[in-house]
Amino acid sequence: MSVTLLAEGVRFVEGPESNWTILTGDGTTTLIDCGYPADYDLVLQSIRDAGGQPDDVTILVTHGHADHIGTAARLVREHGARVLVHPDELKNVTREELHQVGVPEVLRRLHRPRVVRWALRAIAAGGLSPVAVSAAATYDPALTLVASGHSIQVVGTAGHTPGHAAYWLHESRVLVVGDALVSAHPTSRLAGVQLLDRMFHADLEAAIGALDELLAFDPLHILPGHGPAVAGFLWPESVAFAKGHAHDVPDTRTWRTQF
Ligand SMILES: [Zn+2]
Repeated sequence: MSVTLLAEGVRFVEGPESNWTILTGDGTTTLIDCGYPADYDLVLQSIRDAGGQPDDVTILVTHGHADHIGTAARLVREHGARVLVHPDELKNVTREELHQVGVPEVLRRLHRPRVVRWALRAIAAGGLSPVAVSAAATYDPALTLVASGHSIQVVGTAGHTPGHAAYWLHESRVLVVGDALVSAHPTSRLAGVQLLDRMFHADLEAAIGALDELLAFDPLHILPGHGPAVAGFLWPESVAFAKGHAHDVPDTRTWRTQF
């Protein structure tokens, strides 16, 4: 785990397999995402290291995948955390619906060594454990949220999941993008700004379109769900690169017909 203080009360945590952000201020603590189930002790440690109290935590969710809400249910159960999510993502967090890559999709791609390595790490981190958060509540995405003294604009970026949300921190000019955009991933040979492998997206074309939503901001830091923080604003060329590689790896059926 590595923790970087990016602005007053804004810490970026690179966990073993996914990232989270810690906001402090007003005597309260807000997490944006919270890792895999196996990251529970690290999440608690990162809260305490930031000067926060685990018993007064709000979790803002970018999306309901196991590597982003993995410790939420336990934080609710053991520390009374509050979990807030975009209305269109609620069912993916409560698991009334499931929009996440499944075991069959992964099995069909085991001819790719990077996928094998990622899958083993994801399973070890608790990726197949139940992570539903029945206590999750929704916010109004049209309103400016105020969390731990930070005003936050919700940036609807549906595509990776049906209600994926990025978060724009006005005062610190930090853009937390979840998995709408990443800067590295174990399944990818690319370095730099990119989309995740197509198997991870509920709607790949929507995920490609959602990249344009992120161009509207002029951040000092972009914080992805995977990979290191990106300094500065998003270059249109970087978005074009990400879009250009979005279809890089064909799904298995296409793969077989091509090779
Ligand atoms: Zn992720």
